[in-house]
Amino acid sequence: DRQHDGRGPRADMEALNAALMQLADSLMPTPEERATHQAAFEAVSSLLQARWPGARVHLFGSVANGLSVRHNNDIDVCLELEGIELDDTAAKGEVAVAVGELMEAAGMADVLPLPKARVPVVKFVVPKTGTKVDVTVNNMLACANTKLLADYCAIDGRLAPLVALVKHWAKSRAVNDAYRGTLSSYCYVLMCIHLLQTRPVPVLPVLQQLPPTFRRTVGQWTCEFCDDVASLRGFGATNRENLAELLWAFFEYWAWRHNYTHDVVSIRLGGCLHKDDKDWTRRIGNERHLVCIEDPFELSHDLGRTVDRQTRAVLHKEFTRAATLLRDRMDPMDELFQHY
Ligand code: ATP
Ligand code: MG
Repeated sequence: DRQHDGRGPRADMEALNAALMQLADSLMPTPEERATHQAAFEAVSSLLQARWPGARVHLFGSVANGLSVRHNNDIDVCLELEGIELDDTAAKGEVAVAVGELMEAAGMADVLPLPKARVPVVKFVVPKTGTKVDVTVNNMLACANTKLLADYCAIDGRLAPLVALVKHWAKSRAVNDAYRGTLSSYCYVLMCIHLLQTRPVPVLPVLQQLPPTFRRTVGQWTCEFCDDVASLRGFGATNRENLAELLWAFFEYWAWRHNYTHDVVSIRLGGCLHKDDKDWTRRIGNERHLVCIEDPFELSHDLGRTVDRQTRAVLHKEFTRAATLLRDRMDPMDELFQHY
């Protein structure tokens, strides 16, 4: 089964598509959940602005980019303060501690500052609704990539349901945990965008290769891309592939087509780079570069860096399992999303 043999799915793709659309729909957050997230953001935002007058507060992550799934009760909030450099994690850590004290005093539950984390953060829970909040400081790259993802979502309506299915599959199969050597949700989103950019008839454009209409400098990084989504809506209309066909293409690619030895997935370029181009050819410290996914803005950041030989084998086994089920089963739904 490890070799691609050119066969396509056996399932009735229209019927499979209908079932997948229904599943994707059931995974979308309800209006009530959206309202709860918004209310939590506004409450946190006004506490932060009262303590740091003039500071800006941003909502980012999946709740902000339209890629959140139901029962995800987490929101990501960024406090933007003047005068803290991008790489000054010590100063960010101190602010995280201060935010923790503020939230404790305001009656938030389970307040947990993590000032020494790679990205300093304070975690807490809004008691009334149980919404879990992560506050980070000057996390401007995350705000910029949230906007990029949101703009891709607005261009073609197939991205959000594809991401919902892939996230749901990854959670079900226990391969959605960057701390344990598999891949983060953000990484799976980049993989979905890459797939849609590289279909024979593309579903998505490459926003960073078009004349930029959005520009922001964050530390040493330049975040620029075309954010004129109004004029790009309908870009993928000549591609008629449905959700079932795209999900099959996703797993087929990661099971049998991706070159794990040489390739780096890049949504910035809309294709793959060579590991040599990035000098991602050997292990440096804990960064192994066995599965390489380039961050669209922080170009030295490989989202797959936490994957080791063992977890790469697990990931490849799961991609192959999914592709094989989609190819061989008349009705692959239950097995595909079966809990590991
Ligand atoms: P979920 O629905 O699972 O919460 P999410 O997209 O919100 O998905 P988080 O892990 O909560 O994912 O991350 C929030 C945001 O932080 C991401 O959307 C992305 O903008 C940014 N982010 C997360 N992980 C990384 C990373 N490893 N490198 C760069 N940015 C990241
Ligand atoms: Mg999140």
